[in-house]
This record gives sequence, structure tokens and C-alpha cells, in this order.
Amino acid sequence: MFLPEKKTRKPFKTSTKKTEWILATGKNPSSGKFVKMSKCRECGMPLTWGDRKYDFDHKDNNPANNSQSNCYLVCKSCHGNATLITKRKRKALGQTIGYETVKRKVGYKKSRKKTRNTKRVPIHGVFGEITGYRTVKIRKPKAVKSRKRKRKARKK
Ligand SMILES: [Zn+2]
Repeated sequence: MFLPEKKTRKPFKTSTKKTEWILATGKNPSSGKFVKMSKCRECGMPLTWGDRKYDFDHKDNNPANNSQSNCYLVCKSCHGNATLITKRKRKALGQTIGYETVKRKVGYKKSRKKTRNTKRVPIHGVFGEITGYRTVKIRKPKAVKSRKRKRKARKK
């Protein structure tokens, strides 16, 4: 490709990648232990650190946002499915002088399903080690019932 990558695109830091890598396994990254095997966040395909079959995607599609929460471990095929590549004509003086590759994020399907109302929390033993897991319900914050009320309150 002769087109250079956008200057704003910066790769994630290795530490960010490793944290995401461990988070994808469901383990606690602050334990300091690194695991070589992880899995794709979307399809669950097993991944091995260093085998290049995965990508760390910018979840919000903003390549300049390299925050931990924006780092998303996916396998190459899921990354490809979430990115739509189209071509756009480049014109000069009404004539087509070439084509430009446009990458567009179409998003991941799964994100909606993620809103479960239960989660697994580890049970810690006396020495801080994980002795098991239990499922707890997540309390949803109360939804704001009507917008009208908000407006009235603002007027005051
Ligand atoms: Zn995948």
C-alpha cells in the first residue's frame, strides 16, 4: 500500500495489551501473572501470545484513544468482520485519478448481549488467593423516568 497510515494511529502500549489479554481470559491482571493463552473477546477462539492471529482493536474506533477500556482483544477474523473496507474514488478536476481505501468500523454484534444482570465475582481466601466464584446480581441504576421532569427542574 502506498497510502501511509494516519498519523493519529498509535499502537497500544504493551502493558495495555497485556492487561487486556489477561482480562479476556477472565483473570485478574493485577495478580502479576501472565498467561500465554487467551481468547477472542467475540468468538472465544483460543489465542496464543505472539502468534499474530489476533489484534488489539480500538473499540470506539478512535485510534488516538489508547486507554485501557478502549483496548479490545479480537482474533483477526472478528476484527475483519467488524471493519468494513470500501473504496472511494479520488477525483481531481472531475476525473478519477485513483482509489482510496476507506476503513469503517461496523461494530461488534455481541455488545448488547453483554448487559447481563449477573456477574461472577471471585471469593478470596485468607491469603488473598481465589478460592472460588459466586454469582451475584448487579443492581441496575434507576432509570430516569421522564425527560419532562428534568426540563422542569432546569427551568427553576
Ligand atoms: Zn474472534
